[in-house]
Amino acid sequence: MRKKFVAGNWKMNKTAEEARLLLNELIPALEPFSHIERAVCPPFPYLMMVRHMLEGTNIGVGAQNMHWEASGAFTGEVSPKMIAEFCQYVILGHSERRTYFGETDETVNRKVKSALSTGLTPIVCVGETLAENEAGKTAEVVWRQITEGLKDLLPEEGLKLVIAYEPVWAIGTGRAATAEVAQSVHANVVRPALAHLFGQEVAGQIRIQYGGSVTAKNAPELFAMPDIDGALVGGASLKAGEFAAIVQAAAEAQA
Ligand code: PEP
Repeated sequence: MRKKFVAGNWKMNKTAEEARLLLNELIPALEPFSHIERAVCPPFPYLMMVRHMLEGTNIGVGAQNMHWEASGAFTGEVSPKMIAEFCQYVILGHSERRTYFGETDETVNRKVKSALSTGLTPIVCVGETLAENEAGKTAEVVWRQITEGLKDLLPEEGLKLVIAYEPVWAIGTGRAATAEVAQSVHANVVRPALAHLFGQEVAGQIRIQYGGSVTAKNAPELFAMPDIDGALVGGASLKAGEFAAIVQAAAEAQA
């Protein structure tokens, strides 16, 4: 059985003090659900503080991006080795990175390989835009993002991945995909694409999160679906009570 995994993507939000206050509320609120994999992904400047505050808990820390090179003349970039000092996870290929910062399937592929070789668990984001969805291209886009973004990985590397299916039209819009639609993409596109790359057995073990306007209200329905193995949560991860309620929904679905 795949263990549910809920991660909070704080994006470019919170001052250091606000981040500290959020964690002070979040740590006790998440404690009863230690059998669920949970992580927070703060902005780079807070990684060290967050890691330190989470010591003694089993709440993980993730970065929101990284460069693929280990070091060098890449002004403004952060390397896998640097984040690995504080993080177990790294979000890669988020749609905001693809849309605003020119991330492509090729750069995602380089980053995934580099993250794996540094011992980080990549949370690889895929998902179609509204225009692609309306043009009936969801399967084609998601299949391409997975097969290109995860190209040339070995099955044992595939096992270490987490995928987040995040339809772009659902991110930050308050308009989540229905549980049925998300389940259908997970079961009929994402997992078959993973099976195409790594074989059925490995594909069956990879967690596929759903992301896009997940809230405490819609989480139970989403997590009841057999191929929705958790969530990547944006806006709702900025409020301790709301994020904890989403983790609780995962815990109830796992039971
Ligand atoms: C995200 O950006 O990963 C996300 C899912 O955002 P939100 O939950 O705010 O839609």
